[in-house]
Amino acid sequence: MLTVLHGLADQRPFTALRTVLVCPFKATALREGPAVEPGTEAAWLMFLCSEHRGGLPGWPAVEIHADTSSVPRGRVLDCRPVEQLLQSHADLWLTPLTGVQPATSGVAWSDVLGQADRVLAARLEREAGG
Ligand SMILES: [Zn+2]
Repeated sequence: MLTVLHGLADQRPFTALRTVLVCPFKATALREGPAVEPGTEAAWLMFLCSEHRGGLPGWPAVEIHADTSSVPRGRVLDCRPVEQLLQSHADLWLTPLTGVQPATSGVAWSDVLGQADRVLAARLEREAGG
């Protein structure tokens, strides 16, 4: 039987497979992200259970499909170019957590992560009374 996943993911290169949510329920929905570029295929595919189907507002869907594949819930198959993937991480959690904003072009991600690490280390030290 051909699943929705096969139709959306067949023959596509993935840049990352990761788990953005951990829960004990079976995946029943496949959230299809926006296109990488206009007229192209979905940037990412996310597998969610019925409890979390509407969660994660930072990952807006262009469509949600019923899913019967065996991909574990909370997993994301990401097709975005690496630069877009890293920028998404910065936008969704790194910048809100640390205040560190990557420059708009020519980002040295190791420098961004180093700055974020220094911000968090200083915060921990302050909180520990140091
Ligand atoms: Zn769930």
